[in-house]
Amino acid sequence: MNDLSHASTSSPLAREVERRRTFAIISHPDAGKTTLTEKLLLFGGAIQLAGQVKAKADRRNTRSDWMSIERERGISVVTSVMTFEYQGLVFNLLDTPGHEDFSEDTYRTLTAVDSAVMVIDAAKGIEARTRKLFEVCRLRDIPIVTFINKMDREGRDPFDLLDEIEKTLALSTVPMTWPLGRGRDFAGTYDLQAGHVRLLDRDTAPIPVTAGDSAALAAAVPSIDADTAAEEIALVREACGEFDLAAFREGHMTPVFFGSAIKNFGVGDLLKGLGDYAPPPRDQAAATRMVAATEDNLSAFVFKIQANMDPNHRDRIAFVRLCSGKLTRGMKVKQVRTGKSMSLNAPQFFFAQDRALAEEAYAGDVVGIPNHGALRIGDTLTEREDIAFLGVPSFAPEILRRVRLPDAMKAKKLRDALQDLAEEGVVQVFRPRDGSPALVGVVGALQLDVLQNRLEAEYGLEIRFEPSEFALARWISAPTKQELESFVTSHSFSIAEDLDGDPVFMAKSAFDLRYQGERSPAIVFADIKDVK
Ligand code: GDP
Repeated sequence: MNDLSHASTSSPLAREVERRRTFAIISHPDAGKTTLTEKLLLFGGAIQLAGQVKAKADRRNTRSDWMSIERERGISVVTSVMTFEYQGLVFNLLDTPGHEDFSEDTYRTLTAVDSAVMVIDAAKGIEARTRKLFEVCRLRDIPIVTFINKMDREGRDPFDLLDEIEKTLALSTVPMTWPLGRGRDFAGTYDLQAGHVRLLDRDTAPIPVTAGDSAALAAAVPSIDADTAAEEIALVREACGEFDLAAFREGHMTPVFFGSAIKNFGVGDLLKGLGDYAPPPRDQAAATRMVAATEDNLSAFVFKIQANMDPNHRDRIAFVRLCSGKLTRGMKVKQVRTGKSMSLNAPQFFFAQDRALAEEAYAGDVVGIPNHGALRIGDTLTEREDIAFLGVPSFAPEILRRVRLPDAMKAKKLRDALQDLAEEGVVQVFRPRDGSPALVGVVGALQLDVLQNRLEAEYGLEIRFEPSEFALARWISAPTKQELESFVTSHSFSIAEDLDGDPVFMAKSAFDLRYQGERSPAIVFADIKDVK
C-alpha cells in the first residue's frame, strides 16, 4: 500500500484522506457492471445478500412516478454513490447510468472520481460505450483499472483482448492475474505479482506456485493443461513488462484482472488492486489555484442533483464531492456563486440499502446535501476562501425542442418548473431573447421523456414538444464586451440565455453555424461550457 506507508508521520486529516478511494465503473451495457457492484459491496459488508442493488432500484421505482420510464424500458437512470469500508480503506463507488441518453450525467459523475474500473466482457472486448467513456477518463487523466469479466464463459483469447486494449485505447496493459483454463474449463487465476494460484471452486487459501514450475501448477490445478498455462505465464511476464505505478497514475498503463463477477471470482483481487494502486483524492483545479486534498479547510463541489429520493418530502439532494479538508455536521459553509452561507445540518452518506447522517466526512467522500433548490450543479462550497472549482461541464445539446403549454394560465408555473429541472441537470433550458417560448436542449431523447413525465407528475403540467427552427446551440464569448454585444444585437432572433443568463447562439444548421463563424471571427462558439 504505497500511499499508506507514510501515514504514520502525517496529520490525522492526511491519514483519513489517504485511505479514501473514490471511483466509478465504466462499461458497455451488459458487461456486468451491476453484478460487479453487488459483489464489491459484499466485500465491504455493505450488503448481506447479492441481488439487493437491483432489488433496491426496483423498490425505488415503485415509489416514484417518473421512474416508471426506467421500469418500462428496463434501464438504469439513477446515479448514486455507495460507500463501503474494506481492510481499513474507505471506498466511494459512484454509480453511473447505463443508458447512453443519460451520458451527460455520467460525464459529470466522472468529474468527481479519482479512478475508474473498466469492465470488459471477455467475449466482446472493447465495445462502443466503453471506448467513449474511456475517452472521457483520458481527457481528465483518470487512471483505469481493467476487469475482464465473464471468464466462466467462452470468450476471446486473453492475449487478443490485451492487444485490443493496447491498440484501440493506446493504453499499455499489465496483467495482474492470468486465467487458468478457458470457458467451461476456467479453473482460476495465477497471481503474477504474488506468485500464487487462486482456485475458482474452492474457498481455500491461495496456493503458492513459482512461475515456470509447470509441475507445481499441474499439482495445484489438475484440470488444466499445465504446460500451456506455464508457457502463457512466461510469455505474459516477458511481453507485458513490469507494472509502473507512475504510468498508471498518469493514465498510460492499466493493471488487468481476470474474473467472473457472477461467481464472485477475481473481485477480491480487483478490490485489493484498487486499494494498492488507485490514487487517493487528487488535487483539484479551481479558477485561481490548485487545491490539495489535505488542506485544512473544507471545499467541495456539486456534480449531481437528484430529486424525489424520498417522494414524501419532495426533497432534492445535491451530491457533493469533498475536495479538501473535513466536513463536520452542522458546520457553516459558503456557497461561492451566491455568496450565501448555509449550514450543513443533514449531510448524508449512502450505502447499498441505506443512508445515514454523515457526522464527519473527508476529502474524497461524496455526501448528499438535502436542499430546496439552493444548490446547483457546478456550485462550490467552501469553509473560508472564495475558490471556484472548474470542470463540471455542460454539453451543447444534440436535440432542441420548443415547449408548448396548451394552458396559457400556467406559463409562470412552467417557467419555474423548467428552472427547477434545469438546475437539476435533467435538461438544459434556453430562453430566447425575443420572448418566444423556451427551448429545451438534451443530449439524449430519453431526457425529453423524463422531462415530460416529471412536469406532469410533479407539477401537474401537460406540455407538448414541438420541433424548433434551431438545430444547434453554442455558448458564445468574445475578447471584448463590445464585440459580444454587437454580435448579440445583430442576431437578436437567434440568441437565448441559459440557466446562468449566459448568451447562447442558436443556429438553424451546421452550415448556418459555420457561416456565422466566418462572418464574425471574433466570436468563440463553444460546444462545452465548464460550469464555474
Ligand atoms: P450491466 O448492464 O453492465 O450492469 O450488466 P449486469 O451486471 O446486469 O450483467 C448482464 C448479464 O450478464 C446478466 O445476465 C448477468 O447475470 C450476466 N453476468 C454478469 N457477470 C457475469 C459473469 O461473470 N459470468 C457470466 N456468465 N455472466 C455474467
